[in-house]
Amino acid sequence: MISKKPNGAVIYPPDCSKPAEPLVIKGGRVIDPANRIDDTLAVAIKDGRIAAVSREVPKEFDKAKVIDAKGRWVVPGLMDMHVHLREPGREDKETIETGTQAAAAGGFTAVACMPNTNPVLDEEAKIRYVIQRGEGCASRVFPIGAITKGSEGEELAPMGEMVRVGARAVSDDGKAVAKSGIMRNALNYSKSFSIPVICHCEDTGLSQKGNMNEGVVSTRMGVRGIPAIAEEIGVARDLLLAEYTGARIHIAHVSTAGSVRMIREAKARGVNVTAETCPHYFTLIDADIGMYDTNKKMNPPLRTAHDRQAVIEGLSDGTIDVIASDHAPHVSEEKDVEFDAAAFGVAGLETSLGVVLTFLVDKNLLMPADVVEKMSLNPNKILGLPGGTLTVGKAADITIIDLKASWIVDSRHFFSKARNTAFEGFPLKGYACCTILDGRVVFERLS
Ligand SMILES: [Zn+2]
Repeated sequence: MISKKPNGAVIYPPDCSKPAEPLVIKGGRVIDPANRIDDTLAVAIKDGRIAAVSREVPKEFDKAKVIDAKGRWVVPGLMDMHVHLREPGREDKETIETGTQAAAAGGFTAVACMPNTNPVLDEEAKIRYVIQRGEGCASRVFPIGAITKGSEGEELAPMGEMVRVGARAVSDDGKAVAKSGIMRNALNYSKSFSIPVICHCEDTGLSQKGNMNEGVVSTRMGVRGIPAIAEEIGVARDLLLAEYTGARIHIAHVSTAGSVRMIREAKARGVNVTAETCPHYFTLIDADIGMYDTNKKMNPPLRTAHDRQAVIEGLSDGTIDVIASDHAPHVSEEKDVEFDAAAFGVAGLETSLGVVLTFLVDKNLLMPADVVEKMSLNPNKILGLPGGTLTVGKAADITIIDLKASWIVDSRHFFSKARNTAFEGFPLKGYACCTILDGRVVFERLS
């Protein structure tokens, strides 16, 4: 069903019963770092695939539908490799359908969803379920399987089985794998399947019952703190285990200066590690929580200005490979409560790109090609997926970005069921104005 918001944003679920019509995107700045392209070119699409990226539109497309992308970026479809879609189990917070609509509206043609649903995605049938539910949705859905059964940290989940039916990585995200021996076994095992283990790094003995970053601000507010070292001990351990086993790890939601430094050093000595951060960690700090704003409560928590600066430097120098939203939708009952009782997590799919463009690109902290790498090419590479480029012959997953659009974040217009954004009321510059999946327009903004 077509879904439209008062601000002109429209979702068209892909009608896969009909072949995709030929389409030409003309006049845009095509940015495709995998093919070293950054130029004003036309992109021609046929049968849902990229048919040509060229200065002149091929003759056979004379009668094709044309999208005028003048003054806009035309990039490989964005991918968010860290989202929580809540299905199965908490469909009141989000479903695969609404989560993928939010993704498309945010410019994402693909998402990878974490397994901390209810039940946890820890076996073949549950992975299959998510894949099946994702079919015909507004973005691709790639499930991540659990590292341990029930994400309880005790017994390894059947990794081979889950990978065979489509899991692209494993993670116990939301929790750290507390026992180093279990993590070591998981890393050793993961090598046979050439998948990354995605690490939620947290020493819960240090973070226990904390609700925000431990520091001057938490003391003043009287909120129990989560020290930076709770994350950093986890990062240190997983880097050491990756080095020891030779397995490939991906560190989720990096938030501290110490984590950035250790990942940088580990990369320099050849450890097989990639890392991600989230928009809130390079924009907001603990002091922004202000009057106990529960929409700025997440785990790991907002840190200090020093940490924020380190995260930005990590993005600029390539230490941090990926920007992911950690989209964590919650119902209002879990956020409209006292700070200590509120759930951790923020909705991020529909603000991620705007925040990146406003706080990094507009300030010249990140180049356009870096944005495409960190939000499309790298997550695809890490998960072993073919997306992230506009190479002729590949599926036509494309995001068209309007950099000049000024807008104010208003969660009432979200396609997500959630309203728990940390950026409510923020003026942003730039958004996805059109999202194309398999050559079909699945999202556009009509003015
Ligand atoms: Zn996590």
